[in-house]
Amino acid sequence: MSGGGEAPHRTLAAVTSPPHASSPPAAALPAVQVSRRGAARICGGHPWVYRSDVSARGVPPGALVQVVEPRGRALGSALYSSASQIALRMISSDPLADEASLLALVAQRVRDAAAYRRRLVEGSDAYRVIFSEADFLPGLVVDKYAGLLSMQALTQAMDRDDLRACVLETLRQELAPVAIVERVDPRIRDLEHLPPRPTRATFGARTETEFSLNGIKFLFDGLAGQKTGAFLDQRENYAAAVRYAHGDALDVFCYQGGFALHFAPLCRSVTGVDLSRAALEIAERNAALNGREVEWLEANAFDLLRDYADVGRRYDTIVLDPPAFAKDRRALAGALRGYKELNLRALKMLRPGGVLVTCSCSFHVSSAEFLEMLSSAAADAHRSPRVLEVRGQSRDHPAVLNIPETNYLKCVILSV
Ligand code: SAH
Repeated sequence: MSGGGEAPHRTLAAVTSPPHASSPPAAALPAVQVSRRGAARICGGHPWVYRSDVSARGVPPGALVQVVEPRGRALGSALYSSASQIALRMISSDPLADEASLLALVAQRVRDAAAYRRRLVEGSDAYRVIFSEADFLPGLVVDKYAGLLSMQALTQAMDRDDLRACVLETLRQELAPVAIVERVDPRIRDLEHLPPRPTRATFGARTETEFSLNGIKFLFDGLAGQKTGAFLDQRENYAAAVRYAHGDALDVFCYQGGFALHFAPLCRSVTGVDLSRAALEIAERNAALNGREVEWLEANAFDLLRDYADVGRRYDTIVLDPPAFAKDRRALAGALRGYKELNLRALKMLRPGGVLVTCSCSFHVSSAEFLEMLSSAAADAHRSPRVLEVRGQSRDHPAVLNIPETNYLKCVILSV
């Protein structure tokens, strides 16, 4: 892999266990040939190879395979999916000897991921412990909410019983959770041709808890809600926004109150808006938990901003944190129109000295495109906002330089 030691899929030599004298010789791993284009991607440090660049016949779903380029040179080991368009996800640039080495490597990477978070998360007991490719564990997501862990296996390989058991055991050793809930996204299981499975606690029995982000308390229900339960990727952006929030605040697309609850101790009034009644019910319970008053409005954000702008409502702080508008690159133009409409209205509604915290979690909208959309909205609103901060996702959701897909969240803070 290019960049030698810098490559993300490095095998840790120490974790490749020596063959045991008594065990039978390991069966050879299937070899999969990738095209020159696939090989170039791998050498550029990207772990994904698409199906059109792979020839794999008779390889079992979720298998560990050896990857070779057209001239037969070994490129390392990968996890295979028989269903996904992403046929291979590289796991090591050094070919792994056998399945036992894979388990040792996965356990080591889980330990490394936990250690990375111990170094950089402060003042919060909830964070992402494992972020798939960004922790060199493609297809695995684990979030921590105080004593509960929420785990998602997103690929055939990570759904294998032996890999799941290895991950669960290592997580228990590293983080001593009270319980581990396995969350299932039926759509993803369908795409990966995996049989249905319920969302449930696979270790321990508890599925609910309280957690805290930057000193603000939240409820967590492992069996409900979006994502794995909360938008932990905004944790550092909440803390950043708190530095500027003041006056009357409007948190649009508030979900369970992430930004609104952070603002409540600082602002004169706080209003949270979301389409989901279920999310607002939790938001209200979260407010009570913190002894704060927030007004929660169940409304379509587009309609509400239009109505409020029409009647001349004014705010000092506005947050826009919509769901991903662009699910793929083809949806980009429509997504940018949606973002522009929201941002234009918000900019018009801010009082002088007001602050706009505006986000996009669409990977397909680049940071440059997002900033360009914002300047166009500002021009149309006849405002000249200053850029206070251009931010991304919290560092417990690491973005890997060579894997653009790991860098998805944009959060821009403007002063008007
Ligand atoms: N800011 C939140 C996360 C927002 S996620 C936090 O920090 O926790 C996006 C939210 O937008 C979801 O809660 C979803 O219910 C809501 N939503 C989606 N479409 C909407 C619309 N048209 N109007 C209002 N809310 C919407």
